[in-house]
Amino acid sequence: MSQKKPARKRSKAEEICCRKPSQLLMSLLLPLVVVGGYYCPRIGFTVLGLIALFMIIASQRGRFYCGWLCPMGAFHERFLSLVSLHRPILPVFKSSWFRWLLFALMMSLMTFRLFTAWGDPKAIGGVFRSMWILSTGIAIGLGLYFKPRVWCTVCPMGSMQGISSKNTYLLTVEESCVQCKKCQKVCPISTYPGSFKQDEGPGRVPSIECLRCSNCVMNCPKKALSFQ
Ligand code: SF4
Ligand code: SF4
Repeated sequence: MSQKKPARKRSKAEEICCRKPSQLLMSLLLPLVVVGGYYCPRIGFTVLGLIALFMIIASQRGRFYCGWLCPMGAFHERFLSLVSLHRPILPVFKSSWFRWLLFALMMSLMTFRLFTAWGDPKAIGGVFRSMWILSTGIAIGLGLYFKPRVWCTVCPMGSMQGISSKNTYLLTVEESCVQCKKCQKVCPISTYPGSFKQDEGPGRVPSIECLRCSNCVMNCPKKALSFQ
């Protein structure tokens, strides 16, 4: 008979010694691609490498890449947050139709541009770079007014990870949750884990709605959250 794996808890020390440094390090890739890519367009292929990396990670850890390694997300969380107005995220950013509409638009644009650049490595690298600049520009504009990681609620790359990891490393909500909403306050994308509490047995937060950052796990007063 297979034994159930113990729930995974994270400590504040783990946040300070691991997540913050990894985000600060990865955020350096943003200026490297945006500025460096101007002089050497092939640097744009870094984006392709990151896509391969997050698809591998997603198969084991869901949107862990978003919470711990994404250069854009890291920049928004660690730097943009210093000047953001932190207004609440509008409900439309949490709606499926908006997420998938944006996904279709961004993917169509990238596919079209790759098609026109096909055969020229410099031009292809330039396409990846310019798509990154476009999404970063929109994300900064939104993040200045709303919560700094508002873009992560609809990011097409995050959506790709979410749908490819539906049952992977999910955030679990135990019955001990008292629905105090503290978890929602500390969540960078305003997900409310307590709303997934079940009357009988543990509830699970959908993969696409969680960056696996552990902020809520560390701050839940009832220790009701964990990763399975
Ligand atoms: S912080 Fe903990 S107890 Fe409060 S709503 Fe979230 S999961 Fe429930
Ligand atoms: S639900 Fe918790 S682990 Fe997931 S993104 Fe929000 S704060 Fe982070």
